[in-house]
Amino acid sequence: MPHATKPNPLFDLTGRTALVTGSSRGLGRAIAEGLGDAGAKLVINGRKADTLKQAADEMRAKGYDVLEAVFDVALEKEVEAAFERFDAEGTQIDILVNNAGIQHRQPMVELKLADWQRVIDTNLTASFLLGREAAKRMIARGHGKVINIGSLTSELARRTVIPYTVAKGGVRLLTKGMAAEWAEHGIQANAIGPGYMVTDMNEALLSDEKFDAWVKSRTPAGRWGQPDELVGAAVFLASPASNYVNGQMIYVDGGMLSVL
Ligand code: NDP
Repeated sequence: MPHATKPNPLFDLTGRTALVTGSSRGLGRAIAEGLGDAGAKLVINGRKADTLKQAADEMRAKGYDVLEAVFDVALEKEVEAAFERFDAEGTQIDILVNNAGIQHRQPMVELKLADWQRVIDTNLTASFLLGREAAKRMIARGHGKVINIGSLTSELARRTVIPYTVAKGGVRLLTKGMAAEWAEHGIQANAIGPGYMVTDMNEALLSDEKFDAWVKSRTPAGRWGQPDELVGAAVFLASPASNYVNGQMIYVDGGMLSVL
């Protein structure tokens, strides 16, 4: 239950509002609820009004303070309009989690430019667009937290998902760039790199026995990660506990990146 126990002040998000993109389901939903448990008011986002409303209703029933914001993170005009609405409604975004993402599996020689572009736009350019709009307002207030969701592929390439790995590699350096430009304004920008997690994005891989066995043998933890296992890192990076941590990437991957 949200607010069930008195939070450690270092991790207390009371009075803060967090926008988590792509939070109708999956990792974004788990991160949003985790930030809500630490006291934050939530703005959840997705492209589909009906699924977003259903998520918001479920979250409100559990006691979370939730606003819905339907927009496509990859479209500049929609992102700008969303922030103008927040301004008009008096919603100040103190914590931005750039989580919305998509994957497209295809060998590079078969890949169409439109698919390359869509993956780059959603997984990388969106974090620039939202970061820019959020940071303009955070700079004026003198504080803010940006958390970008990367991946193991922020470090390493993987066959058939090249534009995704390029975008996630870009997220790592975009995070450092945000930290470099905004630190003096009291803003910290960091990233989380999840390993293989149980979400819709991996539906096909989870039911592929060979792939499932590969993930389990390749991950020191011996299993896939659950969405709520990202919450600790997210609350840390959203809270005063991380006020001197900037430009970093925390891998939450069951140890996968640490072994050959
Ligand atoms: P899911 O496919 O389960 O959920 C994706 C979410 O993003 C949905 O809420 C979807 O809502 C939203 N979304 C997708 N495109 C857009 C868009 N253009 N604008 C707004 N919302 C959008 O993904 P995961 O939860 O698995 O992944 C979340 C993030 O974590 C992604 O960035 C992903 O790359 C990253 N990640 C995931 C890993 C995993 O193993 N699952 C591993 C490493 C990183 P809707 O469809 O309604 O728009």
